[in-house]
Amino acid sequence: MLNITSACYAQNNDVQNKINYYKEKAEKYLDKQKGLEGYYSIDKSGIKVFASSKDKLSNKVEYCVSWDSIQQINNPSKPKPESIKKLTGYRIAIDAGHTAGDLASGKIEQKHLKFNVAGADGKLDSIEIAEGILTFATAKLLKEKLEAEGAEVFMTRSFNGSTAFGITFENWLKSSYFNAVDSLNKISEITLDRKQWLLTKATKRDKFKLVFKDIELKKRGEIINNYHPDFTIIIHYNVDEMNTGWAKSSNKDFDMAFVGGAFMKHDLLSKEKRYDFFRLLVSDDFEKSVSLSSEMIKSFENTLVVKTASINDAKYLREGCLPTTEKGVFCRNLQLTRFVHSPLVYGETLYQDNERECVLLNQERDKTKNIRVL
Ligand SMILES: [Zn+2]
Repeated sequence: MLNITSACYAQNNDVQNKINYYKEKAEKYLDKQKGLEGYYSIDKSGIKVFASSKDKLSNKVEYCVSWDSIQQINNPSKPKPESIKKLTGYRIAIDAGHTAGDLASGKIEQKHLKFNVAGADGKLDSIEIAEGILTFATAKLLKEKLEAEGAEVFMTRSFNGSTAFGITFENWLKSSYFNAVDSLNKISEITLDRKQWLLTKATKRDKFKLVFKDIELKKRGEIINNYHPDFTIIIHYNVDEMNTGWAKSSNKDFDMAFVGGAFMKHDLLSKEKRYDFFRLLVSDDFEKSVSLSSEMIKSFENTLVVKTASINDAKYLREGCLPTTEKGVFCRNLQLTRFVHSPLVYGETLYQDNERECVLLNQERDKTKNIRVL
């Protein structure tokens, strides 16, 4: 009898610990504005998500999981084959941010810098960088290094200038733009007037920003999830947000990394986002992402000799993010930190407009062989 009683007591204690753990996770890392409690409950029965606070009151559940099932979702990683190579048996997805394969395309997607900067000898150096070229060069190099360690690697962009659709943005405009605009109208995302404007008056920049960008980010999430990676690495280079227009250099330079979370109150009006909130809460992708990202940040700091950002180092960190337990790793509800169903590292390193970095990143004409990328 005594044994049974103590076993029950231990079990209750265990459930209470889980309730405390997941409540803290939801409040500290997923709920930026402290306004989401009406959408979920965490109690003895498990974790539930509701479509609205009204549904919560009437216990009309949208997604739920019991404590036993959570254990099954988050069972230990599958065993990897014995090998002398560190990454044998691992599947890794790499996403090279943005799409530009040349400077002109960088202008269209507005991930392009052009200005003059005075070098150490006092001479003016002309700087022109497109982020998409840098991220692709970095991704390709990383792929080679990971493969040499035995990993199987998938890239969302297969060649410089490629999009997640396997073609350039220019070719996507020719083959798919009309249908994309037409479908947006059919699902009532845009009005008929808007459709006409997009088909007749919109510039390439408009087409990129207003139609292509979101569809393509979704596609990145889809192809990463279809690959079922053990983890995903998303590569970006940063800029000083206060240096808008990026027509001159800045003296700021920081490293940072993003993981999922920091949902805003209005985000959970969307069923799709409620599912992502639920998935991030119950799976351990979030915890693994924080620990992987922290390792990467430490390595950035040591290798690149660039300071790790604190929450007060940028407005978007203060207003759009939540800090994690790890230095330089922030919860941010970006499309890819939300869409990707695996642990992830979303790195934002080096300010491209920094007075020192811009010269280093600009060194080679094709921007792929400079020492900051290698
Ligand atoms: Zn970027």
